Amino acid sequence: MKHMKKTAAMMAVALATTLVTGFAGAIDLGNALGSGTKAAKGMSLSDDDVRAAADQACEWSDAHNKVAPASDKYAKRLAKLTAGLSSEDGIKLSFKAYLVRDVNAFAMANGCVRVMAGLMDIASDDEIRAVIGHEIGHAKLGHTKAKMRTALMTSAAREGVAATGGKAGAIASSELGGLAEAFVNAQFSQKEESEADKYGYAFMLKHKYDPNAMVSMLKKLPAGGGLLSSHPSSPERAKKIEALVAKG
Ligand SMILES: [Zn+2]
Repeated sequence: MKHMKKTAAMMAVALATTLVTGFAGAIDLGNALGSGTKAAKGMSLSDDDVRAAADQACEWSDAHNKVAPASDKYAKRLAKLTAGLSSEDGIKLSFKAYLVRDVNAFAMANGCVRVMAGLMDIASDDEIRAVIGHEIGHAKLGHTKAKMRTALMTSAAREGVAATGGKAGAIASSELGGLAEAFVNAQFSQKEESEADKYGYAFMLKHKYDPNAMVSMLKKLPAGGGLLSSHPSSPERAKKIEALVAKG
């Protein structure tokens, strides 16, 4: 119970100081996206576009967060628990821990996986692996790409990129910050959460990690909050995976 209280307290901190605030700054996605023309027809955003944008968003995020140095205990633990996980489902993975209290983690389409110290404080090694599998699921299932495309379309429409003949740089840097936010801290639907949970569950089985950790991790997250509000959790999510574990 004491443990749960700590979790709730940390969630409150996390909600107050999310990465979103950091992403309000400018980020140069111009090169990654090619040109304003492409932004204007964001529906045709290719996987390469998304990966290239992810490279920049990841770099930006590392520069604006406290990355645990290799000698740090969080970095050491993360390296140990992800040993052997060099790539997954065609994505080359790179892991880093952020020394922030947020109970959160994210994965980008380019394999940039970042785990917050706040999450590591409340989770077992297998529970952290379950979160990593879940996050990779969002990237692999196209959830983050869809969010980015939507943000691009909105931005392009607002800035009138199409009207100006698709000139590069037509998207204001303030808009680009929003794009990065949409990419890294997307709001996922319950359906997407369930899909990512199932992906994470399969990930656990594949690597012979304990699949029950997916259930116990979900139970640690308050209903309605989830891994930050960007990953809405519910008791139903835990129940669904519990049923899969029971089935074997
Ligand atoms: Zn999620």
